[in-house]
Amino acid sequence: MEYFYVDPSDVQGPVLIIRGDEFKHLVRVLRKRVGDHVMVTDGKDTQFEAVIHALREGEAECEILDVQRGVNEPKIHVTLAVSLLKNPARIDFLVEKGTELGVRAIIPMVCERTIPSHEKHARLEKIALSAMKQSGRSFLPNVSMLSSFEAVVNNAEEYALRLIPHEKTEQSHFVGSVLKHHAQAKSVLIMVGPEGGFTDEELALASDRGFVPISLGPRRLRTETAALSALTWVVGGM
Ligand code: SAM
Repeated sequence: MEYFYVDPSDVQGPVLIIRGDEFKHLVRVLRKRVGDHVMVTDGKDTQFEAVIHALREGEAECEILDVQRGVNEPKIHVTLAVSLLKNPARIDFLVEKGTELGVRAIIPMVCERTIPSHEKHARLEKIALSAMKQSGRSFLPNVSMLSSFEAVVNNAEEYALRLIPHEKTEQSHFVGSVLKHHAQAKSVLIMVGPEGGFTDEELALASDRGFVPISLGPRRLRTETAALSALTWVVGGM
């Protein structure tokens, strides 16, 4: 069955309204009609089975038949804070694949060695929406506006576990063994550096704020590969 997104404010009691691009896709592309069944998510963990009740100019009114919470969502909430990259296509890729793999939020970040690029926030949100639908998730990951490295580390207290993948330090322990020691953590922040890596000062500040350095193995991974590898370990391992 086709999968659609509605803004939570468009779920009103036993009825939900599909509008905008989702409406166009429903009616113009898929040619759905009154009486057809659809699966819908509000992007806030709730999934609905609904039947189209009425089609009006620009909106489809649907009657809700069934409601389920947390469908296809990992039990652990993972936020990825990732440096912007010189090639914005790599961040697009990261947002798409991270969403498929179950990330809860993505924070594009500027570190000391980040090479500035022109990442479009609205574009990243669109990519996350499309990947959420494609992968059958019920939660739409939040893509933040650009943050500085300092802002991320200084506001990380809410996370039960803070990880900083880093390939060069002797203090880095293999991700698998670190996760075994933090099996109870339900919210995790993973912070991944730019092409040039983190500076010693950034590593020291992160350590001061309780970030645990982790190794993802002996090979030097590209930023987006490191982020997706760490995400997979955390979502799959807990
Ligand atoms: N030349 C940089 C350096 O020496 O730090 C390489 C940076 S790497 C391309 C980009 C980021 O990916 C790093 O800052 C780190 O967060 C992560 N990373 C890459 N390979 C890793 C590995 N094997 N283990 C842990 N983190 C890794």
